[in-house]
Amino acid sequence: MISFELSPDQRKLQQRIRHLAEEKLHPLSLKLEAGKPGPIDKDYLKIISKEHLNAFIIPEEYGGKPLDRLTLSLVTEEISYGCAGLASIYAATVHAVSALLIGGSHEQKEAFLIPLLKPEGEVASCCITEEKGGSDTSSFDTTARLEGDHYVINGAKVPIINAGNAAFYTVWASSDTGRGRAGINAFVVPKEVAGITCSAYHDKPGLRCAPTAMVFFHDVVVPRSSLIGLPGSGYLLLMQTLDWGRAFFGAICVGLARAAIEEIIHFAKKRVILNRPILKNQGISFILAELATDIDAARLLVWRACRLMDLNMDYTRESSMAKLFASEVAAKVTREGMLIIGQKGYSGPTLMAKYQRDAQALRILEGTSHIQKMIISSQL
Ligand SMILES: Cc1cc2nc3c(=O)[nH]c(=O)nc-3n(C[C@H](O)[C@H](O)[C@H](O)COP(=O)(O)OP(=O)(O)OC[C@H]3O[C@@H](n4cnc5c(N)ncnc54)[C@H](O)[C@@H]3O)c2cc1C
Repeated sequence: MISFELSPDQRKLQQRIRHLAEEKLHPLSLKLEAGKPGPIDKDYLKIISKEHLNAFIIPEEYGGKPLDRLTLSLVTEEISYGCAGLASIYAATVHAVSALLIGGSHEQKEAFLIPLLKPEGEVASCCITEEKGGSDTSSFDTTARLEGDHYVINGAKVPIINAGNAAFYTVWASSDTGRGRAGINAFVVPKEVAGITCSAYHDKPGLRCAPTAMVFFHDVVVPRSSLIGLPGSGYLLLMQTLDWGRAFFGAICVGLARAAIEEIIHFAKKRVILNRPILKNQGISFILAELATDIDAARLLVWRACRLMDLNMDYTRESSMAKLFASEVAAKVTREGMLIIGQKGYSGPTLMAKYQRDAQALRILEGTSHIQKMIISSQL
């Protein structure tokens, strides 16, 4: 049965995070936007802890209070409505945790998930992309050589959200370059291990609140038990992790698009040209009607993908559709926003310009729009 009704509990949670977004995240994100690149802001870590965001993705047996995927998409939309940067910080943790939930052993979950609930506010990183390979994740230059009872990891991943802040990294590497995808393994690597270093933080145009850097692995020695899943299962694990993550990023895009359209409506109501608010012109109001329809359609795609996940059904195509459509909608809303706000959106560091830069980053992250089209078309 299809239902668009949210339960009282879902609505309550949604309201709680919306309130957080309006009261705290909006002003914080604007302050951070203007700052220099650096580690995750301490207030954001406090919010992660205080709002129990990590508990939402951790099973009860490891101390969490897990949400189903649909409810998590509601939370994610609201976080992103407040700050797409914080939502991306959270997404990186969600990805790293998802890899453990899908393929990790009980010991790995116990060792790495429980500490994410510490009151300091913890995050994790997901290390997939490399300079040379980019979108191509069928082979990696990063290697993980098996030597007796341990692996030795060498290579570099870039750009990595939460680099230098993460309690642990999930790292994809090739253990047998001759075997292509079948030679790929995934590892869970604690931050303290010798040989992990990070570059300076990137001074990037969008998602500035979500620090990214390059992560280097130089002769990083980890026990055999750091391998997630069976030897050679890394590629499959990666596809499963990304499949789920795409709908999650769709929710981030919906939250950002909603924040942007609210800003446009607010502006269009109070900007008076030729004695009437510009919103009264169909040239403006029809654009807003289309954008509002697009945002709702994007949300429904996200909900559908999440619902399929909750029902344990196939969702690869639906998750990619959600990410593709929602990220393009976010880009469209912010592009139209820049036009409607006119020179006032273009004079100095404005909110709409920030939204537009964040939206462009979201078209790339988690597989570009081209890659989503490749995935969807392969499933037709
Ligand atoms: C802000 C930000 C944060 C990120 N954080 C992380 C992170 O935490 N962890 C992580 O592992 N990665 C991260 N990434 C990396 C991201 O996932 C990659 O940027 C993305 O997968 C694309 O790779 P690329 O940028 O190297 O593009 P390329 O692979 O170099 O592609 C260049 C262009 O060619 C297109 N293209 C490539 N192949 C094809 C094809 N077969 N058909 C059609 N078009 C094609 C692409 O769509 C793109 O437009 C982050 C990226 C950004 C921007």
